Amino acid sequence: MSSIILEARDIRYRYPRGMEAICGISFHIRKKEKIALVGPNGAGKSTLLTMFNGMIRPDSGILLFDNSPVQYDTASLRMLRKRVGFVLQNPDRQIIAPTVYQDVAFGPVNLGYSPVEIKEAVTRALRQVGLEGFERRTPHQLSGGEKKRVAIAGVLAMNPDVLVFDEPTSGLDPSGSEDIMELLDELNHDGKTIIISTHDVELAYPWADRAILMTDGKILHEDIPEVAFGNLHSVRMAHLSLPTLLELHME
Ligand code: ADP
Repeated sequence: MSSIILEARDIRYRYPRGMEAICGISFHIRKKEKIALVGPNGAGKSTLLTMFNGMIRPDSGILLFDNSPVQYDTASLRMLRKRVGFVLQNPDRQIIAPTVYQDVAFGPVNLGYSPVEIKEAVTRALRQVGLEGFERRTPHQLSGGEKKRVAIAGVLAMNPDVLVFDEPTSGLDPSGSEDIMELLDELNHDGKTIIISTHDVELAYPWADRAILMTDGKILHEDIPEVAFGNLHSVRMAHLSLPTLLELHME
């Protein structure tokens, strides 16, 4: 079994003037796993994901990346964000440059890569997401699925070990969603650890190596999808429905 890349030990977080959003969560994620955080709106999935690259710091508890506690000084966060890439739910909030090339180059430029390295990184990332030839295109004129791929390429250009996706198929039609989930599988085959949040049990069940069911800032159940979703009490507590495939299997 491969080694642990991310670990949380009893982490808690309360938004300023808000409720406690993460209420004592512990878990570990192994290298090259495909993990789905599944729960209803407000369960705390996005909050937890934003802790993985240091955007939010737990009030208490420890988060470890590659067996070392996450440090929150600028240099450590810079290093963490190179290794843990975060793809936002809405690509319009992630894409900032006027051309696809410039957008995907943003990370490598900031990391101080040489012009040759920047070009290599952008070309590789665009190839990985199937957008070769899109370099000069204007991101905001692309389809929803293409924009999502640009956002993913921007993260891939820094060659992270872990990719975190907040609701990766949000706003996409069924075929666009399927394409993105296939891309996530390809990236996983290339050796990336992939963590997604979703409220869609049909999407999580066949895809994940492990599902983490969440509600009210807590983990209800964490296991291979057959077992996690097979626990009807947890599924009900998380206000989820049973995945159709599992329902058929049970019948
Ligand atoms: P999910 O991603 O599962 O929908 P979130 O992590 O977005 O859940 O939200 C968890 C809880 O934290 C919710 O109660 C939500 O209202 C609250 N919350 C989220 N963002 C903020 C914020 N910026 N300020 C205050 N409360 C927030």
